[in-house]
Amino acid sequence: MNRRRRVYEGKAKILYEGPEPGTLVQHFKDDATAFNNKKHDRIEGKGVLNNRISEFLFQKLGDIGVPTHFIKRLNMREQLIREVEIIPLEVVVRNVAAGSLATRLGLEEGTVLPRSIVEFYYKNDQLGDPLVTEEHITAFSWSNPQEIDDIMSLVLRINDFLSGLFLGVGIRLVDFKCEFGRLWENDQMRIVLADEISPDCCRLWDVETKNKLDKDRFRRDMGGLVEAYQEVARRLGLHVDNPTRVRSGPVLVRSK
Ligand code: UDP
Repeated sequence: MNRRRRVYEGKAKILYEGPEPGTLVQHFKDDATAFNNKKHDRIEGKGVLNNRISEFLFQKLGDIGVPTHFIKRLNMREQLIREVEIIPLEVVVRNVAAGSLATRLGLEEGTVLPRSIVEFYYKNDQLGDPLVTEEHITAFSWSNPQEIDDIMSLVLRINDFLSGLFLGVGIRLVDFKCEFGRLWENDQMRIVLADEISPDCCRLWDVETKNKLDKDRFRRDMGGLVEAYQEVARRLGLHVDNPTRVRSGPVLVRSK
């Protein structure tokens, strides 16, 4: 089926060569991984939901002037994106203590932080994506102070906007991870939001019940992941009918 050239395959996505130079096709798989790949499963329908939710959030962010790699959604599992040079950092923004921050600093999960906290992790699976500081980032030339300034101001705008968007539908944006890339247009380079923003890389809690609507359901063996992602999509006003029925392979057509 896929005769396109595969440029990169990650844990949850595949990148194919796009139709025009400088473009790629980002394909969302159903694979779920956690704890640096030690836990792995296929959750039917997850890729379809992430594609749709990420499309929606990138479009909304584009509308407020956040530059992104997103061009358009192509089908239920794929979107057309601009090819960028990914900066090897996972940028995490936290509003409420959870996950590794709660563990590292001995905070009770759910504690509201005195202000939003931005953290950088070096993208390296072999090392388990270690937490790094600006000193490491600049010393090893993963990025430079100008780019870090751009990333900081973008990520705080993204956090404010998404926090408000989710709060409007009864969801608390506890934390999220995003990635940035360098996009060249002629001789000009700018930093753009890349990768995806979906319940796979956010913590989303129902405001009333504190119910988890994100990948922690997989990490913590709680079940109901697709139903939770579907609930996020539904509250955002997105209609994703039967995400588990949409496969990437050929569809059998019965003759009457
Ligand atoms: N996150 C992610 N990919 C990673 C690590 C973290 O998308 O490789 C997201 C995660 O879903 C959460 C936020 O970043 O929304 C902060 O994650 P944390 O550092 O607490 O790590 P975890 O507890 O997930 O190991």
